[in-house]
Amino acid sequence: MSTKEQTYIMVKPDGVQRGLVGDIIARFEKRGFKLVALKLVQATTEHLEKHYADLKGKPFFPGLIKYMASGPVVAMVWEGLDAVKTGRVMLGATNPLASAPGTIRGDYALAVGRNICHGSDAVESAQKEIALWFPEGLVQYTNTLEGWVFE
Ligand code: UDP
Ligand code: MG
Repeated sequence: MSTKEQTYIMVKPDGVQRGLVGDIIARFEKRGFKLVALKLVQATTEHLEKHYADLKGKPFFPGLIKYMASGPVVAMVWEGLDAVKTGRVMLGATNPLASAPGTIRGDYALAVGRNICHGSDAVESAQKEIALWFPEGLVQYTNTLEGWVFE
């Protein structure tokens, strides 16, 4: 059964610099997901180390944190049916070379260390990431088109 979920999606510094913010937002909008939080943030190293805490110890970790702190990111929360899994499908594989055309990474990226967008990998990590990036909470409103997207 599909369930209504929230996922944390983030345009990474390379995606912002390359002018891909609008395209990435448009993909989630057009798919039917509801935007419930959005902001442009220059994240601190400490904050990014919390976001990627599970990867601490990996050889690429220092480079990853430096990359993620190299410019502002666009932090977003999108809500809808199976938002976490569907968001990952829309993103493509971690390594863009393994991402199918039509996915965000498969359309715009080549290198794993410059893969332009983040998406939560599980409902529990989505909840953790949303709490980390949006401690102020999400925005509550009614989307009047909902009846055209959901049964
Ligand atoms: N990463 C990297 N080298 C690797 C694996 C990952 O630079 O060999 C980076 C890449 O930017 C990736 C991020 O670390 O998006 C987080 O890794 P994860 O395995 O969580 O991939 P994701 O969930 O982003 O697909
Ligand atoms: Mg991940």
